[in-house]
Amino acid sequence: MCGIIGISGYENIAPEIMNGLTTLQHRGQDSAGVVTFNGNFHMKKGNGLVSNVFKGYDIEKINGYCGLGHVRYATFGSTDEVDAQPIVLNYPFGLAMVHNGNVVNFNQLKKRLYEENHRLLETSNDVALILYTFAAELEKKDLKHLTVDDIFDTVEVVQKSVKGAYSAMTIIANRGFLAFSDPHGIRPLVMGRKFTDQGVVYAFTSESTTFDYLGYELIRDIEPGEMIFIDSNKRVHTRIGVKKKQAFCVFEYIYFAREDTIMHNRLVASERVRLGVPLAKTFEKYGLNPEIVIDVPSSAYFFASSMAEELNVPYRRGFAKNPHMGRSFITPTQEQREIMVKQKLNPIRDIVKGKKVAVVDDSVVRGTTSKRIVKLLRDAGATEVYFVSASPPIKSPCIYGIDMSVKKEILASHYDVEEIGKFIGADKMIYQSLEDLKDMYKDLPICHACFSGEYPTTVSKAMLDEIEKEKLSSNRS
Ligand code: SF4
Repeated sequence: MCGIIGISGYENIAPEIMNGLTTLQHRGQDSAGVVTFNGNFHMKKGNGLVSNVFKGYDIEKINGYCGLGHVRYATFGSTDEVDAQPIVLNYPFGLAMVHNGNVVNFNQLKKRLYEENHRLLETSNDVALILYTFAAELEKKDLKHLTVDDIFDTVEVVQKSVKGAYSAMTIIANRGFLAFSDPHGIRPLVMGRKFTDQGVVYAFTSESTTFDYLGYELIRDIEPGEMIFIDSNKRVHTRIGVKKKQAFCVFEYIYFAREDTIMHNRLVASERVRLGVPLAKTFEKYGLNPEIVIDVPSSAYFFASSMAEELNVPYRRGFAKNPHMGRSFITPTQEQREIMVKQKLNPIRDIVKGKKVAVVDDSVVRGTTSKRIVKLLRDAGATEVYFVSASPPIKSPCIYGIDMSVKKEILASHYDVEEIGKFIGADKMIYQSLEDLKDMYKDLPICHACFSGEYPTTVSKAMLDEIEKEKLSSNRS
């Protein structure tokens, strides 16, 4: 999971892109970067938070009239600076690209690029693979008379070859600005617009909340397989390329996206409130009588308060959270995650002491964080702890860019619900039902592969094994 932003048609764009990136910081904290174009590419990127990478840096040095920004969460473990985005290629025209997602046929494509196009991919970075594939196809066109259809035809070749999840943006030097999605529209990308004294400006971002901060009007989501090109006269061209059944990542609503963002016309906070309703119905079936419902801050607040309301049980804040700590899930190693949970959460003793507590979290992946939370509550005097997951059991690896690609690390792929409850030390473990989740998204086709094992793209066992092996050796980013 990463965050991307692109803006076209505005002088001195770099500060705005950098500010926009801070609104996407929750999507990746490993590296940050900005590239702009004004006849030449100008780039600044590095490891760490946006505030660290750009601290003391004169952002005016990299100004241009269109640009791209990226915050990275290293799904495949490598945090090398060389894998930070954006990346730039000098031929044809000069190209810069950012992407969010994960390519599942990386090795096959890398081999094909070398054998058919004689291009050697020097990094293990997905975005380089997409960019090289794009460049290899684009250079076959009549470059003197390049048309928008040529560009869209090139993207279609990319969409046919590159399997997996990707929302991507590219600057084609002196030609324009391109945004496109994979055929299933797995990862989010929205388009916005604002009117300035320099005319209309178009922007794209992973989450609409960026637009609230930067003063853009949200126009719409990029559709599965869609390509949008903004030419140098600011004309907008669109085409649907390779399109397959939509499979939008439902985990965006459950965990990744900020609560104030809108994806596919649904406010994330409202989706979390909605998910609390069937959760309460499932909870009721067990005949438990919690005295309070609390959440694991911060993403579980809406699930917990909504579930409490349905159950007619008081919702309380049971944990104090250190607001200066990052998101534990997107911290690269288990050891770091555990230290972070310890530093981040402290139970509010008088709230939980002597009480039967239902504690709600967004999900349970490896179980070690949940175990720690149950222990914190017991140590603070809770008499019983019911652990509630707002998502169904995660049983299968995510191969689309979320850090759950190693099956042996996924608790529910090896243990049943009762065993998981015992492992984390809860008196009862309760999950959202997959049927309820699917039922809620009848009108928005979602990806639920990590719960159901039904992958939207063609995936073989060999492919899953290969992805797992790469993850374990951390040689892909
Ligand atoms: S497998 Fe799960 S986390 Fe991965 S894209 Fe699908 S729904 Fe999202």
